[in-house]
Amino acid sequence: MERMTRIFVSYSRSDQEPAEHIANELKAHGADVFIDLQRLTAGEDFVGRLGKEISAADVFVLLLSPRSVESRWVKAEVNWAFTQEKRILPVLLEETDLTEFFFLVNIDRIDFTRWYQNQNVSAGMNKLLVALDLKQPEPRSKEAQLPAQTVFNLGELNNRMRQLDAIAAEIRALTKSPLYTYRVQNNYYPVPGEGSPLARIMLVGEAPGENEAKSGRPFTGASGNILDEQLQSIGLKRENIFITNIIKDRLPDNRDPRPDEIGIYSPFLDRQLEAIKPLVIVALGRYAMRYLFKRFGVDLKNPKISKIRGTVYKARSDYGNISIVPLYHPAVALYKPPERQNMLSDIQVLRQFIPIAL
Ligand code: URA
Repeated sequence: MERMTRIFVSYSRSDQEPAEHIANELKAHGADVFIDLQRLTAGEDFVGRLGKEISAADVFVLLLSPRSVESRWVKAEVNWAFTQEKRILPVLLEETDLTEFFFLVNIDRIDFTRWYQNQNVSAGMNKLLVALDLKQPEPRSKEAQLPAQTVFNLGELNNRMRQLDAIAAEIRALTKSPLYTYRVQNNYYPVPGEGSPLARIMLVGEAPGENEAKSGRPFTGASGNILDEQLQSIGLKRENIFITNIIKDRLPDNRDPRPDEIGIYSPFLDRQLEAIKPLVIVALGRYAMRYLFKRFGVDLKNPKISKIRGTVYKARSDYGNISIVPLYHPAVALYKPPERQNMLSDIQVLRQFIPIAL
């Protein structure tokens, strides 16, 4: 017989009602649930018991509320689960500041906020049961469309970080590039890209400018300021996304990239895409757009970025369905200031993806 899924429920005592409700539902669906309802049983080594239960659990269900993130019990349990590389599944009971649990920022949270609004919680419960494999998703239901990454997995984060570090190291060591001499002569750095390895949204620009080549970080100059203004307008933070370019070294006088240069650098972008597996790829400018359309088989006849900016194109990647969104390159607002306002409205199209991005 298949072993029952073991689930540890971590919660603040002040959220006992929803915690018990959730634990009972999970049990009713066949899970082996540990929830500590009597914190101290006479004579029991309580901390040791909690540690053992977390170690034995398949999934650590974390009930998030402003009270639970302050609870020292919850903090200790999360730390234990984190160091044990447990799968952590966050359930949001109320809007909560996750500064301390930063590693959960890009993980889907099961929305259970209706509990404290005295509303029906069956949709949240369904999602939770599906995420825990205790229930089959209904065909074409919202749960069935949930991306796979519903659970925090430290092993996956480490794996992605390792891959991204290896790619960055290879870019730094890339002496065969025609741009290498220019890099060395000017004391420039290559710019591999940066952001969250768990990002759902990835931005791809063209090539680093002078500021970026001096700092080694993407979009840190005038174009970066425009980009920040756009991101802020939709409440997207750089730490929640990944930003990179097709070309990882500065091009002399910011000239357009040549096909041979795209050929040399694009395999690094491909590997970054494979490591991060973004669900939404934003192409900043025509070079990124052309490359990404070709890479993911979006077959438009002679696409013009001026015509299709702000449109969402659905495409297929090796890891599942993705959306590609071409936008003007932020530098356009610098040489055509009247476009700045239009570009701010173009980026609003990304709002639809914010629930999966944060
Ligand atoms: N322009 C780009 O395309 N990328 C950067 O990183 C900066 C400016």
